[in-house]
Amino acid sequence: VIVTGRIEDVRRARWGDPKLSWGLVPTMGSLHEGHRSLVRRAGADNDRVAVSVYVNPTQFAPSEDLDAYPRDPERDLDLLQRENVDLVFTPGDEVMYPPGFQTEVIVREVAKPLEGASRPDHFKGVATVVAKLFNVVQPSRAYFGQKDAQQTVVLRQMVRDLSFNVELVICTTVREPDGLAMSSRNAYLAPAERTAATVLYRALSKARAAYEQGERRGAVLRRILTKTIAAEPLARPDYASAADPDTLAELDYIGDGVLLSAAIFIGKTRLIDNMLLTNGSDF
Ligand code: AMP
Repeated sequence: VIVTGRIEDVRRARWGDPKLSWGLVPTMGSLHEGHRSLVRRAGADNDRVAVSVYVNPTQFAPSEDLDAYPRDPERDLDLLQRENVDLVFTPGDEVMYPPGFQTEVIVREVAKPLEGASRPDHFKGVATVVAKLFNVVQPSRAYFGQKDAQQTVVLRQMVRDLSFNVELVICTTVREPDGLAMSSRNAYLAPAERTAATVLYRALSKARAAYEQGERRGAVLRRILTKTIAAEPLARPDYASAADPDTLAELDYIGDGVLLSAAIFIGKTRLIDNMLLTNGSDF
C-alpha cells in the first residue's frame, strides 16, 4: 500500500497504468464497518482502490465538533492494509487548502433543506473537498454511503452540473445489531445516550411500516417520526422529513418514492439517519 499526503504521489500511482480502473472512497477516518463496506465494494468493482482520510475543516461550522472529531490514523491504516487498499491519501490542511486558496463549489437548491437548514455551509465544504479529491485521484468510480443521503444528492448534482468524469456508487447503510447506523460520532455517546440513540432507527422503521401498509400522506409519516422521537427524553429533534428523493422537497402525497430522514441531538451529539423507500422496497 502507498500511504501519502502528497498530490504528486497520488498522480504517479494513479497514472502508472492508465488502463486500470480506480475506485475512490473519501472518508474522514475513524473507520468502521460502514467505511469497510464501501472499500470492499470499491475493490469488487475496480482494479485499484484509493481511500482518502481527511477531516475536512470547511464542512464544520465554528460551533461544531471539528476539534473533538475522533481520529485514529494508526488503526485506520491497519484496517485499510488488511482490506488490501492500494493507495491511502492522507493530506494535511496545507495540501488541501494551500495559502491563498479561494475557490469554492456551491450546489444551490438541493443543499438548502434538511442538513443544509441546520448546517448552512456544510455542503459547500463537502462539495469543494470532494471536487478536489476527484481532481487529485481522477477515479473511475467513487463510493458514498446512503447514511448521508443528502450528501449523495448534492454530489450527484455537482457531478452532473460540472461534468465530472466519475460514476457515483451509493452503498447501503451499515447498522449495529440494534439498528443504530454506524457513525464515527457514535463514539461520543455515553451508555444511556447510546441506548437512546436507537430511537432514530425505531422512528424510521415505524414510518416505513406505515408506508408499507399503504400510508402515502407525507404529513402522517413525518408525524410518526416526530412523535416517536419525542417519546425519547434524551433525544432533542432537529428535523423529521418525508421528502422527494431527488429534489428533497417535502411531499404532501407520496407517488414514486420517499426519502424518510431525521436528525436529532442526544446531549451534544448530532445524529442523522434515513430510509429510502421506492415502490414498496427500501434501500
Ligand atoms: P465519513 O467518514 O463519516 O465522512 O464517511 C465517509 C463515507 O462513509 C461517506 O460516504 C458516508 O456516507 C459513508 N458512511 C458513513 N457511515 C456509514 C454507514 N453506517 N453505512 C454506510 N456508509 C457509511
